[in-house]
Parts: sequence; C-alpha cells; structure tokens
Amino acid sequence: MSTIMMKEDHFGFYVFKVILVGDAAVGKTSLINKYVFNQFAEDYKASIGSNIIIKDLETDDGKKVKLSIWDIAGQQKWEVMRPVYYQRADGVLLIYDVTNKESYDNLFTTWYHEIQTIHQDFKLMILGNKSDKGDLKFEDENALNEKFNPIKIIKTSAKNGENVEKAFIELTKAMIAPLYE
Ligand code: GDP
Ligand code: MG
Repeated sequence: MSTIMMKEDHFGFYVFKVILVGDAAVGKTSLINKYVFNQFAEDYKASIGSNIIIKDLETDDGKKVKLSIWDIAGQQKWEVMRPVYYQRADGVLLIYDVTNKESYDNLFTTWYHEIQTIHQDFKLMILGNKSDKGDLKFEDENALNEKFNPIKIIKTSAKNGENVEKAFIELTKAMIAPLYE
C-alpha cells in the first residue's frame, strides 16, 4: 500500500495527528478554541491530561483533510503521560508566550527533550503566542532554526486571531507535501 493511500481514510480524507506542545498557560487550548470554534476566553482553566478535537478542512487546492488535534496539558504532573500522547504525531505546534521568557527558554530544554520521544518523522512549526500583548523580542530565530528545524516560526494571537488559521493550514500543507515527493 502506498503512503498516500495509508494517509487517506475510506472517505478520501487525509488524516493527520497534530499535537500542541509547550508550557502551561502559553495558550495551547486557546489556539485550538480560536481555530476550531472561533472562540476566546480570558479565564484560565488548566487542561487535564489530553483532549482530542477533530477538525475537517480543505486546502486551497481541494484536498480534504481531517486533523485530530491533541491538546496536551503542559504541567509537570502530566510529564509521564505526555510521551504516550505524542506517539504517531504527524505535526507539532511548539508554542511559547511572547511575553514570558521562561516559556521560550523551556522550548530548548523540557520541550526539546520531550519531542525527541516521537519515533517517526513529523513537521514542526513554532508559534510565539499572545502577540496582541506586545512582543518582548527575546526570541533568537537562528537558535530556533538550528535546534528545531521548523517549517516556520510565526507570531500568533488566540485573542485577536492573528495567524491562527494560517498556522494550522501551513502545518497541514507541510504534512501533505512529503506524500507527493
Ligand atoms: P494552555 O495552558 O497552554 O492551554 O493555555 P490557555 O489556552 O489555557 O491560556 C492561558 C491563559 O492565557 C488564558 O487566560 C487565556 O485567556 C490567555 N491567552 C491565551 N492565548 C492568548 C492570546 O493570544 N492573547 C492573550 N492576550 N491572552 C491569551
Ligand atoms: Mg490548556
């Protein structure tokens, strides 16, 4: 069976697993809610374990895609479970908060090490979230590129929607591309 066939279910959808990874409170749940439901909430409710949301989309060249989007809790207490949730991910959105340097620094330590537990190829995009709050500009794009080889590094806002849809669509295109190489 070809790789392309294996990535399509019997209704002709491409099926991909996307995981959101990063510190607690960087906006993982909010980005999903904005993208899937066009909703944003100011109050913070810590996620429990993992939640999976299915989102159907169509690329601009007419490919039908089903994303299973995994919202994975970032707190220390879920550390043991996370590598289980990560398995078979086709795409990773690695997220920090542009107003919180610690969440950026942790990309290079905690989160870098955790995603090494994913045992197959995946595409990765880096999102600097909360761009609506201003940007403290501690990011070093060269360092990020060197460490993570991301398909893109972009600034997003789950609050005003900046680049939110774009992030999911660009990641989806990057996941589709190797199937046609
Ligand atoms: P998670 O722990 O990574 O899932 O983070 P949440 O999505 O729960 O968000 C944590 C807090 O940050 C909540 O109070 C959200 O309202 C807020 N938040 C998330 N994204 C944004 C954003 O883009 N801009 C602003 N201003 N606040 C955000
Ligand atoms: Mg959450």
